[in-house]
Amino acid sequence: MPDISFANDSAKPKAELRLCDAADCCEEGAFPAPKSRDNIRDYHYFCLDHVRAYNKQWNYFSGLGGAALEKAIRDASTWERPSWKFGTGGKTAPSPDDFTDVFGFFEEETASPQAARTAQLPAEERAAWAVFAIDPTEDIKAVTKRYKQLVKQHHPDRHHGDQAAEEKLKEINLAYSYLRTKLVSS
Ligand SMILES: [Zn+2]
Repeated sequence: MPDISFANDSAKPKAELRLCDAADCCEEGAFPAPKSRDNIRDYHYFCLDHVRAYNKQWNYFSGLGGAALEKAIRDASTWERPSWKFGTGGKTAPSPDDFTDVFGFFEEETASPQAARTAQLPAEERAAWAVFAIDPTEDIKAVTKRYKQLVKQHHPDRHHGDQAAEEKLKEINLAYSYLRTKLVSS
């Protein structure tokens, strides 16, 4: 299997719900999948869709050899990006909340009435929405969902305790606490 860095927290006891190990997935990670053939006691935890896709990938890789495998591994190193999705398994299309405009394809949309409304918000709030990289919304559930995605994405465990990831996480926490306070009190 390719060396994909998933959140490495399967060993720690957790009070909260275990989330699916796939990047940006907010489903419950109810299905264990061994990380490798050599180490079948070490598990990833996935939601049903992702465990299916994971198993499918595994079968796929086992049928490859040499250069083809190497290429597949290189391709797989992009899996951690926010745009990661499985081509064939499970859900056919990512929902808009799963989508991050990494390539700026939709940047033009920000020159819209929405952008004009956003521009009128206080600077602190605009900054918070910018951290969340979503359009301002009154929907606290959408904000919480996005928060969970970001926390998973920038979790230090996933970045080998990287300082920048830690700073980013702080920023995300601050933005979330600001937005939650604002939405709950409005
Ligand atoms: Zn999942």
